[in-house]
Amino acid sequence: MLLQDLTEVYEQVRGTSSKLEKVALVSELLRKTPSETLPLVCYLLRGRVFPEYSAQELRLGWSSIRAAIRAVTTVTNEDLTAAYNKFGDLGSAVELIFEEKPKISISFVSEPLTVEECYTALVKIATLSGKDSVRRKKAILIGLLNKSSPVEAKFIVKTITGEMRYGFKGGLLEEAIGQAFSVDLEVLRKAYMVRSDIGEVARIAQEQPETLLSLSIMLGRPLRPMLAETADNLEEGFKRFDKALFEFKYDGARLSIHKDNEEVHIFTREAAEVSTSLPELVADIKQIPHSFIVDCEIIPFEHSPKAFQGLIKRLRRKHRVAEFVRKIPVKLYVFDLLYLDGTSLIDTPLINRRERLKTVIQPTEQIEIARCIVTKSGAEARIMFQESLDLGFEGLMIKNPHSLYTPGKRGFEWLKLKSEAETLDLVVVVVEYGHGKRANLLSDYTFAVRDREGNLAPIAKAYCGLKDPEIEEMTQYFKGIAREQHGRTFLVEPNVVVEVKFGEIQKSSLYDGGYALRFPRIKRIRWDLSVDEIDSIETVEKIFQRQKRSS
Ligand code: AMP
Repeated sequence: MLLQDLTEVYEQVRGTSSKLEKVALVSELLRKTPSETLPLVCYLLRGRVFPEYSAQELRLGWSSIRAAIRAVTTVTNEDLTAAYNKFGDLGSAVELIFEEKPKISISFVSEPLTVEECYTALVKIATLSGKDSVRRKKAILIGLLNKSSPVEAKFIVKTITGEMRYGFKGGLLEEAIGQAFSVDLEVLRKAYMVRSDIGEVARIAQEQPETLLSLSIMLGRPLRPMLAETADNLEEGFKRFDKALFEFKYDGARLSIHKDNEEVHIFTREAAEVSTSLPELVADIKQIPHSFIVDCEIIPFEHSPKAFQGLIKRLRRKHRVAEFVRKIPVKLYVFDLLYLDGTSLIDTPLINRRERLKTVIQPTEQIEIARCIVTKSGAEARIMFQESLDLGFEGLMIKNPHSLYTPGKRGFEWLKLKSEAETLDLVVVVVEYGHGKRANLLSDYTFAVRDREGNLAPIAKAYCGLKDPEIEEMTQYFKGIAREQHGRTFLVEPNVVVEVKFGEIQKSSLYDGGYALRFPRIKRIRWDLSVDEIDSIETVEKIFQRQKRSS
């Protein structure tokens, strides 16, 4: 398949703001794609070379990419810098340069690039390591760029730098796959939640769609975590279930751990592998007999729970890992067992999974099983709630003891009850320069919820309330994801999810959604959440109704 077929669609998708059209364009492309190339096309459409869960990286630095661009064109260093500054990304810069500057060495037989050839070259770049690898990686890129059109060069460079932003985010690829192969979107999403590999799921949708529903979980392959709805109070659990299973709710990051003999893989909730940043946990887990998958929460912990911010410095760290193991000790609370010695347990009731968990995990200094009770008694639950808060945890999870594990699904089988004033997870859609000493910083944000049609609906605008160095970092980040600029205001890709505190919710004609938050302020940036996981207008309404009842 020609790379040009892919980049043409990429340009068309970038050029339209209609979601329907974007999905139609991509589904048409997927329908025409041969099955062995389909996974590659899906990864590339996601701006990646490998499936989401893979820890493999291209590791080709900026200076190598710049050197490769200079090797195939007559561009000077100054012109390259000027082109970069114009767009803020190397991909767009290379497109401009290719349009303006003649290439030095045009191949004699100028066969057009194919997707397969380009993909194989990118995989090769990722796998080369050791002495001389930088030179060899650069040589491969030069080979690719030599054969590329301006748009293809942009596509390749953006894939390498991880800057493939073209307005095709979230679940649009799933929608396109569903449309291309006439597969129900829910079925497709379920399969994706279990396998975390969009390329594999697309291929199955094309070749054997009837098997999608029965895909089983796999050791070493992250599945998306089951999610909880918000409970108003402890009694809600008893209303919903005869007896409820109460667990401490820890305020950290969700992890799933896969252990297969000597091999240990630790994944975040977005299926990114973070094992190398947590060597002390890997070492402990290696000691446990059995092959298993467990679901857990990690928190910074030194005698008591510490601030969540510490975790950001620990997870995904690649350098000075040992130093940070000492500086920011962590604790892992395991609360579920999803797979044991060859058998998936996701269709086993929680209460039985919990029983078996006790037989597998032997607590260590840094690994514990989450505290839990099963009870009908409100008094017992209240004591446990208070105990959780006294110990510095976040509240309680209330779970149906008979619930099965549904990957990636937010439902009422699991409920969460926090002590704190309400917060909402919202996405930043507009950013503006501030005033006074923040005149050069993008410090005022507009936040959106998900409306009933699945669109983003603004609900509040606020000065972000972050610390200055953070605002500076965010200013750079937002400039990189800006879609449009109007004076001092930027419309940005909805990438940054924030947990927002507020005074109360008001009915308001200011926003299309009909509600506005009073006194909104950011509690923290939720890098662990994607735009698909933000709160909905229904949740806003629910809080609004509750507010009315209690006022
Ligand atoms: P929230 O992030 O506020 O939506 O709350 C749900 C999150 O709480 C889950 O995704 C987990 O990361 C976390 N959590 C903490 N303790 C538990 C627990 N015992 N069971 C399930 N999730 C937990």
